[in-house]
Amino acid sequence: MTKVYYNAEGNEAYFENKRVAVIGYGSQGHAHAQNLRDSGVEVIIGLRQGKSWDKAEEDGFKVYPVGDAADLADVIMILLPDEQQPKVYKDEIAPVLRSGHSLMFAHGFNVHFHQIVAPADVDVLLVAPKGPGHLVRRTYEQGAGVPALFAIHQDVSGETKELALAYAKGIGALRAGALETSFKEETETDLFGEQAVLCGGVTSLVKAGFETLTEAGYKPEVAYFECLHELKLIVDLMYEGGLEGMRYSISDTAQWGDFVSGPRIVNENVKAEMQKVLKDIQDGEFAKGWILENQANRPVFNAINEREKEHPIEKVGRELRKMMPFVQQQKKKEVVSVAK
Ligand code: NDP
Ligand code: MG
Ligand code: MG
Repeated sequence: MTKVYYNAEGNEAYFENKRVAVIGYGSQGHAHAQNLRDSGVEVIIGLRQGKSWDKAEEDGFKVYPVGDAADLADVIMILLPDEQQPKVYKDEIAPVLRSGHSLMFAHGFNVHFHQIVAPADVDVLLVAPKGPGHLVRRTYEQGAGVPALFAIHQDVSGETKELALAYAKGIGALRAGALETSFKEETETDLFGEQAVLCGGVTSLVKAGFETLTEAGYKPEVAYFECLHELKLIVDLMYEGGLEGMRYSISDTAQWGDFVSGPRIVNENVKAEMQKVLKDIQDGEFAKGWILENQANRPVFNAINEREKEHPIEKVGRELRKMMPFVQQQKKKEVVSVAK
């Protein structure tokens, strides 16, 4: 098994006489900044004027323009949207970077695909929590944490791994465990996971199931419950006990259907297509398309986004969820069970 790092391996003393600039105060930014501060680390925030700036000040942080924050800090954690990072880096961070700086990320995309190339005398590393920022903050407050990956791209100081572990401890990740990876592995597996399984795979599977039932004349409300709503219950069981734990809880009829029909749905063709998706990620095709799409102001992204909102499963779902106030409450329960 790959080594898992826990609290005992994080050295808080690393941050003595060091200042961390968290650049961005969104999902990850607010969580890292607040957790680090509560762990005794000196944190400042780098932003542009706007909503996040006001929010960070309300939360009691000193906020500076990005370049000033980077200049004032020893450790710079870039928590801007990945598409924005190259420009902000080039215009505001690169001009103040100096030998001795440590440059951090929470995702390897820009470094791995050469959108950000740091000078050779700067430490470059990532600490990537495996969960959304709001969970990173809430679990920390509850005394727990979200697991993380860390990776070292450039180690000039000889202390980059110590920083990665101290940082992971500061945001609470070492309470749950951290694994060492590479920028390549973190980037490629993250992109593949969200495309093939977590986001792309699941949404397409759900829609195909819903369409098959409604095209065959079944009620959209019933199809919604079967193909979307119940998914959460199944995923919760998998999260707690793997496939075996989930199968223990479902009926034997459901389990038999799982065994005989599952492989007919996700068959060899699907896996062959997954391999092509992975290859597009590995050779940079996907990254190139996404970078160009952003440079063109997202014409395809926006068109598909609008079209998807009009899918019948979304229309029926919006109506059904209004009648299910417990769906909202479920969220809180989920967070508590993660914290245990
Ligand atoms: P968000 O979109 O939630 O936050 C973006 C922040 O950046 C906002 O505070 C925004 O401020 C600020 N910002 C945007 N553009 C600029 C700019 N040009 N100059 C200054 N500030 C700007 O990002 P995330 O937290 O989702 O993502 C940050 C990083 O974390 C990414 O690398 C992502 O891959 C990674 N990550 C994200 C996870 C997640 O669950 N969200 C999970 C693990 C990693 P404003 O209010 O002014 O727009
Ligand atoms: Mg991702
Ligand atoms: Mg059933």
